[in-house]
Amino acid sequence: MNVTLIRTSQHNETIKTFYFKPDQPLRYIAGQFVELTITHSQPDTRGEKRWFTLSSSPTEKLIAITTRIVPTSSTYKKALNKLPAGSVVHMSEAMGDFVLPKNTSIPLVFIAGGIGITPFRSMAKWLIDTNDQRKIQLLYSVRDTEDILFKMTFNQPNITLIPHIADELLTVDKIIDYTNGLAGKHFYIAGPEHMTESLVSQLIKRDVSKYHIVTDYFPGYVQI
Ligand SMILES: Cc1cc2nc3c(=O)[nH]c(=O)nc-3n(C[C@H](O)[C@H](O)[C@H](O)COP(=O)(O)OP(=O)(O)OC[C@H]3O[C@@H](n4cnc5c(N)ncnc54)[C@H](O)[C@@H]3O)c2cc1C
Repeated sequence: MNVTLIRTSQHNETIKTFYFKPDQPLRYIAGQFVELTITHSQPDTRGEKRWFTLSSSPTEKLIAITTRIVPTSSTYKKALNKLPAGSVVHMSEAMGDFVLPKNTSIPLVFIAGGIGITPFRSMAKWLIDTNDQRKIQLLYSVRDTEDILFKMTFNQPNITLIPHIADELLTVDKIIDYTNGLAGKHFYIAGPEHMTESLVSQLIKRDVSKYHIVTDYFPGYVQI
């Protein structure tokens, strides 16, 4: 489907959200992702398509993606960064199973590494708008507390936001300290591939069932 860029919002020096209006309603579940095509001249070897988790909630009118753009970014990111409001681009249907469990009584631990916060913003906003008060501990690994995105959305009585400064490696022992134990919880992990893979294997070694771990890894991000 085609989507029109309506506006952007710059969170800090490098992170930006792009808001699009779809030409037909996009059906999606909080936590799902889309493929966005940005055609541009002389694309580098990484090409003109990228996957992005929607940072918007299905309860919101506009569809949003949030990404990091740095001076060394790909031609894709540079073209996206320069896209003027009113531009029409192609977006795929939403897909993916990084979505909330139906059982609302399960305590959830969300673990985000940097830009991996995007699905959690979508889920948190959806929970607020549907008046769902399930208990969530959000462990958010960032380079600096200045990098914490969507503070207003996460500032809810049922959400405990726990920032972790990425200088120190996030391990399962740290997760136990922050969350007061692993038992009975479901873990949602989104972020760079190496962080996600390492935490999954550590959780499994501590007897957390693989059925209680859901992951979304973001290729292209080596560091938080
Ligand atoms: C299911 C899924 C969901 C995703 N959701 C998101 C999301 O919500 N937000 C998001 O930002 N990304 C998301 N991603 C990742 C996204 O698709 C891109 O892979 C990622 O943003 C990197 O984009 P890029 O390749 O344009 O690299 P860039 O962002 O341009 O660069 C990433 C890093 O690579 C370095 N780099 C740049 N160019 C080169 C080069 N030529 N050679 C070597 N290194 C280089 C940069 O310095 C930077 O450190 C998701 C991926 C998947 C699969």
